[in-house]
Amino acid sequence: MKTSAESSKHAQNLSNLRHSTAHLLAHAVTELYPDTLLTIGPVTDEGFFYDFLPTTNFKEEELAIIEARMHEIAARALPITQEEISKKEAQKLFADNPYKLELIENITDEMVGISRQGDFFDLCRGGHVANTKNIKHFKLTATSGSYWRADKTKQALQRISGTAFESQQELDEYEQLKKDAILYDHRRLGKQMDLFSISDLAAGFPFFHPKGCAVLNTMIAYMRGLQRKHHYQEVLTPVMMSDELWKTSGHYYFYKDNMYFADLEDASYAIKPMNCPGSILIYASRPRSYRELPLRMSEFGHVVRRELSGVLHGLMRVRGFTQDDAHTYCTKDQLEDQIINIIKIIKEMIQKFDIKNMHFAIATKPATKYIGSDELWDTATNALKTALERVGEPYRIKEGEGAFYGPKIEVGIQDSMKRFWQCSTVQVDFSLPERFDIHYITKEGTKERPIMIHQANFGSLERFFGILVEHYKGNFPFWLAPVQARVLPITDAQRTYAQKLYEDLYACGYRVEIDTSGDPLSGQIKSAQEEKIPLMIVIGKKEEEAKTVTLRHRDGKQEMGLDYQALLCRFEELQR
Ligand SMILES: [Zn+2]
Ligand SMILES: [Zn+2]
Repeated sequence: MKTSAESSKHAQNLSNLRHSTAHLLAHAVTELYPDTLLTIGPVTDEGFFYDFLPTTNFKEEELAIIEARMHEIAARALPITQEEISKKEAQKLFADNPYKLELIENITDEMVGISRQGDFFDLCRGGHVANTKNIKHFKLTATSGSYWRADKTKQALQRISGTAFESQQELDEYEQLKKDAILYDHRRLGKQMDLFSISDLAAGFPFFHPKGCAVLNTMIAYMRGLQRKHHYQEVLTPVMMSDELWKTSGHYYFYKDNMYFADLEDASYAIKPMNCPGSILIYASRPRSYRELPLRMSEFGHVVRRELSGVLHGLMRVRGFTQDDAHTYCTKDQLEDQIINIIKIIKEMIQKFDIKNMHFAIATKPATKYIGSDELWDTATNALKTALERVGEPYRIKEGEGAFYGPKIEVGIQDSMKRFWQCSTVQVDFSLPERFDIHYITKEGTKERPIMIHQANFGSLERFFGILVEHYKGNFPFWLAPVQARVLPITDAQRTYAQKLYEDLYACGYRVEIDTSGDPLSGQIKSAQEEKIPLMIVIGKKEEEAKTVTLRHRDGKQEMGLDYQALLCRFEELQR
């Protein structure tokens, strides 16, 4: 384990290296294409890029040439130096480059930083490796279009992106993860494994095929079990509700641009973008006593949100999706413990899906679009902070990124390809209970306002499904797999025994299939492996005579001579 001082030192070194590699890229481009104008070249999360204005656009195949020149320059072992010069001198130095001149113009200091290596120089605030020979392990990854100042109305530029690491091993690992991300893209696997599809006739609204639906239903069954264990009660609320409701909730004023509306007779209705107001109507349907609190209502609610077609992306960004949404109504005294309990539920859920790393953030009050007093926002934000501190989870603050009705905890999970995805959220809300004027009757017989906690564990079921497809690279664990096992009869002589076994397992509720292709065993195994089925139940003459099976795992491991009871025991173990 690295200490935080060591890891911030490491991050700084990596950032210096990548920044220096961006200079090296600009240096190589300047030598190869002398008429190219340089603009900016910042470090990014994954590496760096440099935006150029070349005389003709770069082609993908030119990256290798540029990369070769970069290695050549690096090998010249040029010291990288940094100096401060006056603005006037800098303007002289960059007299032919309007972009650099604009950057210099915007520098508030009198002095301007310049870095030099050999005869190459660039505008720069510093933070380099000492010598070009220290830049060894890098890769140019892409060329794409961009705009000066990221503004579409300004000059179109050409971006070259790349990355650099301190060791070849880290670079190799990075490249492998990039290849994997393409290979195991959920859209590609979704098609290959026949899990889901998206039609042009319903852009942003996915279709789940039988196998995808089997996984989705297993996720729902798991979540129902988890919610039941923690005393949530499931509800269902309508898909469309009157504008009046959305005006009361504030969505009509703060979220309207994301909503679809339709006329029903003489009233305007909205398709729900969130489930919360529906839940409140159930709470408000009759008087509530303090004895009922905390009251936890969960819902698998299908919501629809307006998204531009250009941003839609497989299952990751859609227009219609199902939230595993829950709302807890509680007293002020119960608030902190309830949040802690919710954090524990989320952690339990994340571990179930073999996810090792997660991190927490608190998103605070938006700058302009919000409801409720500053005092309520502070109380809610502090409750979230205290709860995370009590469970011992570090968190970072995302300033101004809360929902319009309250601050939230956002949970990021790291998948097997080391990418972070935001999934679960927990929000504290004093505003909606006030807007809907809901109460409970206290022990003393007085009326009090409950606090509402919004909670989504998966977040969007469809998106979490997409993340899981990629995280598992299609190799779902037994309990979650679309097809858990396939019976493989070696010859037709074993077909009756195989069929009986298949029917028994099917009757036990397992998702099993039988291979009816008549192919030789090697072919049957190959196709089961291609379909990423966790277990193969092989039946030959020997097995039939002994009334046993050979159990072959996806990874090639075999267990021989299992009788039916032993087979069922293995299934039950793996199902947990
Ligand atoms: Zn620099
Ligand atoms: Zn909600």
